[in-house]
Amino acid sequence: MDDGSVGSNVYDVIVVGGAAAGLSAALYTARQGLKTLVLTKDIGGQMLLTDEIQNYPGFPSISGFDLANKLKEHAEAYGVEFVYDELVGIEESSECGGLCFKLKTPYAEYHALSVVLAFGKTPRDLGVPGEQEFKGRGVSYCSVCDGPLFKSKNVVVVGVGDQGLDAVNYLANLCSTIYYVFGHDRPIGSQDLVEEVLRLPNIRPVPNSKVVELVGNKKLERVVVENTKTKERTEIPADGIFIEIGYVAKTDFLKGFLQLNEKKEIVVDKEGRTSRQGVFAAGDVTDTPYKQAVISAGQGSTAALSAYNYVQRIKGKPASSADWRSLKPKQNVELKL
Ligand SMILES: Cc1cc2nc3c(=O)[nH]c(=O)nc-3n(C[C@H](O)[C@H](O)[C@H](O)COP(=O)(O)OP(=O)(O)OC[C@H]3O[C@@H](n4cnc5c(N)ncnc54)[C@H](O)[C@@H]3O)c2cc1C
Repeated sequence: MDDGSVGSNVYDVIVVGGAAAGLSAALYTARQGLKTLVLTKDIGGQMLLTDEIQNYPGFPSISGFDLANKLKEHAEAYGVEFVYDELVGIEESSECGGLCFKLKTPYAEYHALSVVLAFGKTPRDLGVPGEQEFKGRGVSYCSVCDGPLFKSKNVVVVGVGDQGLDAVNYLANLCSTIYYVFGHDRPIGSQDLVEEVLRLPNIRPVPNSKVVELVGNKKLERVVVENTKTKERTEIPADGIFIEIGYVAKTDFLKGFLQLNEKKEIVVDKEGRTSRQGVFAAGDVTDTPYKQAVISAGQGSTAALSAYNYVQRIKGKPASSADWRSLKPKQNVELKL
């Protein structure tokens, strides 16, 4: 008889996010013998946006891409499964024969006894007409990733602080002309960087201005800017726009399910527990004040040990406070330094 139960397709833990926090969490839960799934949009997260990380202990200099792949290989070696999809909803469910969680993506549903949310931060949207329409067709949120696609083209950068200035500096070596739109008389940011950027031969500063609309046909063609003092509008012909205005935790779908702070970050305690039993969180998506790869990794392993103890408890088994065992990896992956 079908009792609506999802039977053996229940994971002990689903980790959402495949970057420093999520991959570290998955390594830990898998090493403890939990059936672990990583549900993620990509491998690496924000680390992919930087060419070099110099402060991840043990690696004096490593690219974000390489570090992410090492973390993935390490987790895979202990039997972690991966699904590339986007979490859009989560709820408690009784479909597992006891309390579990149902995680929804646009394409599927997954069930787990416990969850570690480690889905970090995502670039902030500008929120102007045309932005969604031209995403990936002229609109980019990562100059380092997409800059080479705009070689010898005219682009606009709308940026905040050093993030915007870094983008202009980087693109200056690739693009023909860079229109830098900022809201004050001078760009805000580190003094040295401001001077350096304003000296670039191919930068056209657009001060006291904001972007109000993106216009094009099949791809972006023009960026409409408004002078905030005179209200005059100008159209800048551009093949691309780089939006570098910070990162946000996209947690709206968790409202009412978990406690969030005023920045929409997930509130956690020192054991990585959220306001709901069985749901843990780690890394940049949480209210931790320091957003760093190594901190995300540490928080990931903390949340994983808490998730393990939670699952043990509901299975009537003993808890553990550390993972000091020497285990043979399940897969024959050569873990090189
Ligand atoms: C340009 C730049 C340079 C940096 N340089 C350094 C540095 O030198 N040193 C350092 O320590 N830190 C650095 N950082 C910060 C560091 O990258 C972050 O602190 C770290 O990556 C956070 O890791 P995380 O796992 O918490 O989240 P993220 O890196 O944000 O990863 C989130 C993961 O979740 C996935 N995801 C997001 N939403 C969903 C969803 N709804 N469903 C499924 N999956 C989802 C993403 O695909 C990604 O895999 C830098 C950041 C940037 C942007």
